[in-house]
Amino acid sequence: MRNYIALAVFAFVVMASGLSAQQGALQTAADKMGVARVKTLQITGSGANFSVGQNYTSSDPWPKVEVKNFTALVNYDTSSMRVELLRTMGAVMPKGGGAPFFGEQRQIAFVSGNYAWNQAAPPANAPAGPAPMANPNPDAAPERMLMLWATPIGFVKAAMANNATVRGNAVSFTVGGKYKMEGTINAQGQVEKVRTWIDQPIVGDMLIETTYSGYRDFSGLQLPSRLVQTQDGYPAYDITVSGVMLNPAADIQVPQNVRNFQPPPVRVESQKLAEGVYYLTGTSHHSLAIEMADHIVVVDTPLNQARAEAVLAKAKELIPNKPIRYVVTSHHHWDHLGGIRAAIDEGATIVTHSSNKAFLERVAKTPHTLNPDRLASSKKAVKIQTVGDNGRLTDGKRVIELHRLQGYDHTGDMMIVYLPAEKILGEPDAFTPPAQAGTPLIPPAVPSAKALNDNIKRLKLDVQTIAPFHGNRTTTVAELEKAAAGSAATN
Ligand SMILES: [Zn+2]
Repeated sequence: MRNYIALAVFAFVVMASGLSAQQGALQTAADKMGVARVKTLQITGSGANFSVGQNYTSSDPWPKVEVKNFTALVNYDTSSMRVELLRTMGAVMPKGGGAPFFGEQRQIAFVSGNYAWNQAAPPANAPAGPAPMANPNPDAAPERMLMLWATPIGFVKAAMANNATVRGNAVSFTVGGKYKMEGTINAQGQVEKVRTWIDQPIVGDMLIETTYSGYRDFSGLQLPSRLVQTQDGYPAYDITVSGVMLNPAADIQVPQNVRNFQPPPVRVESQKLAEGVYYLTGTSHHSLAIEMADHIVVVDTPLNQARAEAVLAKAKELIPNKPIRYVVTSHHHWDHLGGIRAAIDEGATIVTHSSNKAFLERVAKTPHTLNPDRLASSKKAVKIQTVGDNGRLTDGKRVIELHRLQGYDHTGDMMIVYLPAEKILGEPDAFTPPAQAGTPLIPPAVPSAKALNDNIKRLKLDVQTIAPFHGNRTTTVAELEKAAAGSAATN
């Protein structure tokens, strides 16, 4: 859901007035870094970014992606920033998740005031044409805005404009009336660490901590040559700075379609796969609702609370007068788990791989003060039923089998869902049939399809319909088999 926040309203006129003695550490930093001279800044470098929420198991660090080029263009006067990443990937993805890509991938992210958007980059050799479309991404605004004010220059500017409390080398203040920022400034006037928190649907008030080191002269300013940002405890960025440009042109305008964007209403579509078995689609991440004798089993409450609520409501509409007693989590990746707290609040028992028990217990209790959700007010206790390599839910008649995918590098806890009587298989991520049948998968997606195909064979599952949790259609083992072979054959 869109968070209407007012982060952009910073009054820098405060800087002109006299500073109290308390602000000594801040003033030292401002002088040493030459903060008053900086209106805009371009920072270039290289290193890595990491796929947050996509670890191999729920206790691993985030998977690493090489960043060949990192360029951040910051305009402190207009609270705007453009970050461009040139990421590279070989034929094999690092262990863990993240949207598969192959070769080079350019990502361009913007923030300006309360607006955030992404820009699709044209291929390197594309002919000149109209500027590519800006894709609104309002949910990313807080994180990006806080990243801007967490830069060493930004931190000092924001601290001075927001009446920071200074205790020794510790500086703290609140931006936008909502977001806490804390930093440490060393005796040399260098910002060493900045901590801030953003709302995340699963882990709640999530710590983002940035550590700056290797200060040296860049364009006459003392700035760090390395930044490491962690999210929820693991690195999300690790960038070595190679160059800084002082006060370059940085006219970042919010595109009209971003300004006018209204998020579409949450929509759940359903397709009946068999008697009492429903495939719930309508967005990027799908779910299953399965009717049992006196209750409902839902598989996956993805994305966020709003999506989860709509999925749970749809399940109850399709299967009336029965409670949702179980919600199965296919795996722990955050895009599939985003609505888990709504499922906990629903009173459902969460069926999950044993490796997720501690994580889900933490999730059920994390503070959600930035954006309180249903569970934050109900404080219901989580009920967890763990599964090992195999699990089974039954009401005596219908059987739902759960099987952990083996040899699957995307995630260590992936449970596929198999209904033996109906010959239906639900699976997220391992194989998403291309919109157009016969299109070959990109190289890093082939091993995942192969792992699914191998597991179906190993378990001798008699599958007639595969219901993938991404994409726009169901598929068959025959199509999976061709894709797993890396073949472009039509089916
Ligand atoms: Zn995943």
